[in-house]
Amino acid sequence: MNVQKCGCKENRPQNSVRAGCSSCSTNPHKMPADSFKVPAVPISRPLHTSTKVNLNDNKEPCSSGLKCDLPGKKDDKKKSWSLSDFDLGRPLGKGKFGNVYLAREKESHYVVALKVLFKSQILDSEIEHQVRREVEIQCRLRHPNILRMYGYFHDEKRIYLILEYAKHGALYKLLKERGRFDEKTAAIYVRDLTRALVYCHAKKVIHRDIKPENLLIGHNWELKIADFGWSVHSPSSRRMTLCGTLDYLSPEMIEGKPHSYAVDIWSLGVLCYELLVGLPPFDAKDSSQTYRKIRYVIIKYPEFISEKAKDLMGKLLVINPEQRLPLTSVLQHPWILENAPEGAVPPPHNPEQGQHH
Ligand code: AMP
Repeated sequence: MNVQKCGCKENRPQNSVRAGCSSCSTNPHKMPADSFKVPAVPISRPLHTSTKVNLNDNKEPCSSGLKCDLPGKKDDKKKSWSLSDFDLGRPLGKGKFGNVYLAREKESHYVVALKVLFKSQILDSEIEHQVRREVEIQCRLRHPNILRMYGYFHDEKRIYLILEYAKHGALYKLLKERGRFDEKTAAIYVRDLTRALVYCHAKKVIHRDIKPENLLIGHNWELKIADFGWSVHSPSSRRMTLCGTLDYLSPEMIEGKPHSYAVDIWSLGVLCYELLVGLPPFDAKDSSQTYRKIRYVIIKYPEFISEKAKDLMGKLLVINPEQRLPLTSVLQHPWILENAPEGAVPPPHNPEQGQHH
């Protein structure tokens, strides 16, 4: 498999199965305390800005014609954002191409996450198109279970993405603290992710990189899809090449076949399993074994998994993409209806609650 992207995120082990970047090792818990108070409900004042990203020249706008909204102070549609508009707070995490900081827009006091990417690294890694696509797609999406991207700006060396602040961080971190989730909590996350994917697919967006590292948790413990770096507008002939975990890739993707919306349905099944069990279903000592397990859909369910949960995962993890359960039917599946009825929200997570094993 051709390596273009490092899939490493905080905490997921980087072993031979998950060839990745060894430099990503920030522990956000060691960061200093917030330098300002985060309001429970962000103050919102609508703003339209049409800052444009061009990674090569910060004077010439790109042709994407993007328009993003940032609740904030400015009414001037032409005026773009700059770093001086924000007070910077503590680092929230580290990705391969830069860091994410808590930030507050100075005038409105609106709290956001500022993702800072280094242009040199983006150009060296040849992921300029990926970043552009991430911005173009994520700026346009509006759903309670999708992380908002309010806008972006850049200076000579960096690109700054202005993102909704997800107070409780990455779902992956929560999962590692808990070991695994009970069926009710897992079903609520699966339901909310399904709703977000229904919305994305209706907008002709395939995410293609659903995994716990790319799911953030908001103020009310609600799930939010983040990181649209691998997403595409369908139809697309774009092929994917990546490093990082194989665990979430569908059979058609690992075989380099054409793929479509159903890759997200497969990943939903993998995520459901990892939330309930604590490890992805095709986890193995090395990537060739993971590959084999995915190819032949070899799954073992621990005894504590309910029949209804197994039934749902069995209908999502199907080799033939066309035979995977449609997302709208996922929302009507008995396991979801029983464990995640309308209005049910994820319970608050207390790291001291101890682990499920
Ligand atoms: P990324 O570069 O997007 O992979 O982000 C690296 C880490 O920063 C994530 O794993 C999160 O812990 C944290 N992070 C990223 N975006 C946000 C956000 N919008 N709100 C809170 N934490 C974030």
